[in-house]
Amino acid sequence: MPGRQRKPVNARVDCVVIGAGVIGLACARALARAGREVLILEAAETFGTGISSRSSEVIHAGLYYPAGSLRARLCRPGREALYAWCADRHVPHQRVGKLVVATSAAQLPVLDDIARQARANGVASVQRLDAAEARALEPALSCVGALLSPDTGIVDSHALMLSLLADAEAAGATLVTHAPVQSVECGTDGHVLEVGGAGPMRLHTARLINAAGLGAVPLAKRMRGFPAGLLPTAHYARGNYFALQGHSPFKRLIYPVPESAGLGVHLTLDLAGQARFGPDVEWVDAPGYQVAPARAAAFYPAVRRYWPDLPDGALVPAYAGIRPKIHGPNEPAADFMLLGPQAHGLPGLVQLFGIESPGLTSCLALADAVLEALA
Ligand SMILES: Cc1cc2nc3c(=O)[nH]c(=O)nc-3n(C[C@H](O)[C@H](O)[C@H](O)COP(=O)(O)OP(=O)(O)OC[C@H]3O[C@@H](n4cnc5c(N)ncnc54)[C@H](O)[C@@H]3O)c2cc1C
Repeated sequence: MPGRQRKPVNARVDCVVIGAGVIGLACARALARAGREVLILEAAETFGTGISSRSSEVIHAGLYYPAGSLRARLCRPGREALYAWCADRHVPHQRVGKLVVATSAAQLPVLDDIARQARANGVASVQRLDAAEARALEPALSCVGALLSPDTGIVDSHALMLSLLADAEAAGATLVTHAPVQSVECGTDGHVLEVGGAGPMRLHTARLINAAGLGAVPLAKRMRGFPAGLLPTAHYARGNYFALQGHSPFKRLIYPVPESAGLGVHLTLDLAGQARFGPDVEWVDAPGYQVAPARAAAFYPAVRRYWPDLPDGALVPAYAGIRPKIHGPNEPAADFMLLGPQAHGLPGLVQLFGIESPGLTSCLALADAVLEALA
């Protein structure tokens, strides 16, 4: 009835997952498959419109991450679980391989460091190539040496999310869209959520996963009873992409040696073979997805270091994604942060912060880690 305030529904559910991106969907699927009753609450009009639909869609092999970090521990098993999942569920993907390239002699030791790090992370398939060997694989490439990662691939991230949602629903999970979680009262005997939107709800749950991506830290600040001292500071780093007009001269993904807050302006391919360059790193105060055409000026010299024949005017603005950083521009890169009951003392609650790359690759392994934290 117009003008009349609707009374919130008061309901009880075993598990609530906040956020229907790739991480929330993977967690919901794992919980539902473990026999739990699961409700996924998503603020947007449908699933997968956040970070997960604005990535490079790369299945990372797990080369770079510090040994023992959560990112290192989840990426390699996550990658193999993801390849198996994609093959089983007919999710379009391809193990295309990638080259990390050194474009000056000074960068050669960095390649050796990455190769060592990769092996420490259990990625035994990487191969060091000299310039001629790299050019034999990719004739358009200019470099002084390279590292071949045959286990890197690409995936259709939307089809992946659809397959996770379908599996979660088949196991009994329910997705509710237009359902922004506004606040939570955390307790030792369960959690009470205030959900807004057109059909406001008050939900009591024993198990709560905060997989709200860019909204995870702001939402956690609205969780009464959660120890504020454990909350990281949210920072946002936009990654802008430019698409290549015309055919890609490369069959594999091409990455420069990494830079401080990202992996450098690299070339990725989609499953149709279309090339795009990015993401760069642009620290911003708030999420926003506009790609400024002028940023192409920095892409041309960066790309020409490894592809000198990039034609003038070949790059067109494509899209941007926002990294949910939990470290600032001048701080060391943060690991994924998974805070379960052991960390904060509240039974049944898992907070996921800073799930940037390789979150897509690691989604299945991260979901297993969430289940473990709840056990
Ligand atoms: C530029 C870029 C490139 C990347 N490239 C790769 C890559 O190549 N390979 C890789 O492995 N990883 C990559 N990543 C990382 C990967 O994309 C992320 O780790 C992953 O998509 C995060 O998924 P998510 O489910 O946590 O977040 P999201 O997909 O953002 O999902 C969170 C959801 O929560 C919802 N939400 C937020 N607040 C609330 C609320 N209060 N109530 C209800 N719902 C809420 C949002 O609407 C959203 O749908 C990249 C990331 C970026 C930014």
